[in-house]
Amino acid sequence: GQGDIHGEVVVLGSGPGGYTAAFRAADLGKKVVLIEKDSNLGGVCLNVGCIPSKALLHAAKVISEADEMGEHGIKFAKPKVDLKKLRSWKESVVNQLTGGLSGLAKVRKVQVVNGYGRFSGPNMIEVQTDDGLTKVSFDQCIIAAGSEPVTLPFIPHDDPRVIDSTGALELEDVPKRLLVLGGGIIGLEMATVYDALGSKVTIVEFMDQIIPGADKDIVKPLHKRIEGRYEAILTKTKVTAVEAQKKGLKVTMEGPDGEKTDTFDKVLVAVGRKPNGHMVDAEKAGVAVDERGFINVDNQQRTGVPHIFAIGDVVGQPMLAHKAVHEGKVAAEVAAGEKRFFDARVIPSVAYTDPEVAWVGVTETEAKAQGIKVGKGSFPWAASGRSLSLGRSEGITKLIFDEEDDRVIGAGIVGPNAGDLIAEVALAIEMGADAVDLGHTIHPHPTLSETVNFAAEMFEGTITDLI
Ligand code: FAD
Repeated sequence: GQGDIHGEVVVLGSGPGGYTAAFRAADLGKKVVLIEKDSNLGGVCLNVGCIPSKALLHAAKVISEADEMGEHGIKFAKPKVDLKKLRSWKESVVNQLTGGLSGLAKVRKVQVVNGYGRFSGPNMIEVQTDDGLTKVSFDQCIIAAGSEPVTLPFIPHDDPRVIDSTGALELEDVPKRLLVLGGGIIGLEMATVYDALGSKVTIVEFMDQIIPGADKDIVKPLHKRIEGRYEAILTKTKVTAVEAQKKGLKVTMEGPDGEKTDTFDKVLVAVGRKPNGHMVDAEKAGVAVDERGFINVDNQQRTGVPHIFAIGDVVGQPMLAHKAVHEGKVAAEVAAGEKRFFDARVIPSVAYTDPEVAWVGVTETEAKAQGIKVGKGSFPWAASGRSLSLGRSEGITKLIFDEEDDRVIGAGIVGPNAGDLIAEVALAIEMGADAVDLGHTIHPHPTLSETVNFAAEMFEGTITDLI
């Protein structure tokens, strides 16, 4: 190994949570060691998550926009897809970012130890490196071990035609018929990519709607659009068996119309992710891991062992990179002796589908269930000049207010770039803004951001013109 090493702060895992925590602790003067089993830094998000998926989604968007402009007077030839080139472009985007992280670690004198780490005691992690066991002792530790895809017992995961999100991002080929098991964010994003590349896509979702976390009215425009493009979207349906056959994967499903079977060229399993808490021998450091693999933390990201923190996917939902980053900063600052708490009011969620679906704070359904007197301002993008000039009219911006004080407490947005628009509402909620604040802030015209302004005016009843 690299000989025995000591870190004042040792971070286990280099995803968005881990590298953020490591860099922040180093910036605050700590001697930091960062342990990572993969050769690249950056974790799931940079290597096999957020970033490669967004590169491929951009390609998908260009393809479908070029196609749709045909109806408005600009006709392109059918796109020729060079998978090898597309793959290597995606990889170059990933490598640029992960390479950048290595540079940023060096500048901060963060020592990177490459290998699989496991706790061997309350102040020690043993790392299995290429050339032996390296003992890394620490004063304080931040666990940022992330998560991995859930597998299902009745699915032959060892068959190469059964893939998870990582396999889907590898883009080995474009299957003729693809079954996406799971209508959540990850499954729908990969469906968007494969649909654009030419696969016939079927989505199977157990709940009664795709993206079950968001309000139904906000998901509907996405559902309608992909319903027209995909082979099928089967909600309230569960897959009960997948059988590997020579001619394809025979899938048995149970839905409202009973049981049926169908054969697909590939099956993408995207039914959720499980935390890696059980993979690091946390118990040997006295850190409790619950049966699902989550590590419980307090509002300073401390585990039950005060000098050991945990952040990111391994501590709970929502499993999102921006949550991991925020928690990473909190943990690092607390470890460096600062008084810092996780006190964010809201964490936005985005499905980067086409149209995008974004939500923040309480949904309308949740607000009603909580007994809040719900006020609502909903603006249809069919009345947005900018949306129409993009050739799109299906979007909606919905703001949820507490009728007691008119403060905004949630939002759901669907439409192109909804993910960018939701940030304004997140800020508004953090600052306790009310409908007048949002309605009286001058937004640039013509932009999609105006729809937030208009939705607030709809609630106030002060909207005059629809443009
Ligand atoms: P991870 O990113 O999971 O990193 C954990 C790291 O720890 C890994 O590098 C792993 O190798 C390492 N590790 C684990 N155990 C050990 C060990 N014992 N020894 C050494 N190293 C170890 N989130 C968003 O916010 N936006 C998106 O657009 C988005 N898109 C996604 C798309 C896909 C296809 C997927 C799969 C996920 C997506 N996510 C997205 C989720 C996001 O990737 C995760 O929330 C985020 O990566 C979590 O960060 P983390 O730091 O907790 O852990």
